[in-house]
Amino acid sequence: MIATPIGNLEDMTIRGLRLLREVDVIACEDTRHTQRLLDHFTITTPCVSYHEHNETARAEQLVERIVSGQSVAVVSDAGTPLISDPGYRVVQAAIEAGVTVIPVPGASAVLAALAGSGLATDAFCYAGFLPPKQGQRRKALDIWGSVEATLIFYEAPHRILEALADVAFVLGDRQIVLARELTKLHEEFLRGRVSEVLVTLSHRAVQKGEMTLLISREKAAVAEELPLTEAVRRLVSGGMDRMEAIKKVAKDRGLAKREVYAALER
Ligand code: SAM
Repeated sequence: MIATPIGNLEDMTIRGLRLLREVDVIACEDTRHTQRLLDHFTITTPCVSYHEHNETARAEQLVERIVSGQSVAVVSDAGTPLISDPGYRVVQAAIEAGVTVIPVPGASAVLAALAGSGLATDAFCYAGFLPPKQGQRRKALDIWGSVEATLIFYEAPHRILEALADVAFVLGDRQIVLARELTKLHEEFLRGRVSEVLVTLSHRAVQKGEMTLLISREKAAVAEELPLTEAVRRLVSGGMDRMEAIKKVAKDRGLAKREVYAALER
């Protein structure tokens, strides 16, 4: 299991390069994609493809190769295989067949993003991609939001605005970091409250680049202590409809909606 760069080719490790040269075959998520990396480093090892749709069948074939004496490297398009990438079934099949599995660590967006975020690193929770549909996404955020750790998600640029609006809806206007284009020319860390990052992004014509979203652990008590008006204001600036915001604050605090209305009118 060999990690490959997530942008900057200098992040390819010396050990990874040696092994990519030495193995009999490289199993790639996308052979054309990996071929560009191999060409850059003048590596001529043959490639075979494995991906989400043929991984189970391919896993058996790859294990058969190893049992017959060959060595096989597994890579994904970028970063560490298996981390929101295929490879899990190959590792499972190898372990079942008693074949040695050797991880060769290197780049992974989740750790690079955390290292540069400035958010707490003592406990973090990586939960892959957020679901693309709003209902499931809000449910997922509700579940992960109770974990006392920095939360980390991968997100596609065309969904980032709706995802951030849902973060504000479910978790409130928390401190977040959006890590974009890590290790690349236009690497960027956007830090601030969800509402602030949303404002920055909304000034851009299009959302683009690879993105990792980190959400600060925030003690529920802090949100609880906010004045009702401020709690509503934060949700509204995070993109929520005013009525919805009032309903949510009332529910979170165990109050009747009219009590929140009364606070707003004071
Ligand atoms: N296996 C990879 C790893 O170890 O990071 C992740 C693969 S996953 C299919 C791709 C997602 O990772 C992207 O959609 C993005 O959310 C995140 N990602 C990958 N490269 C990134 C980068 N250079 N900067 C920020 N996020 C990145």
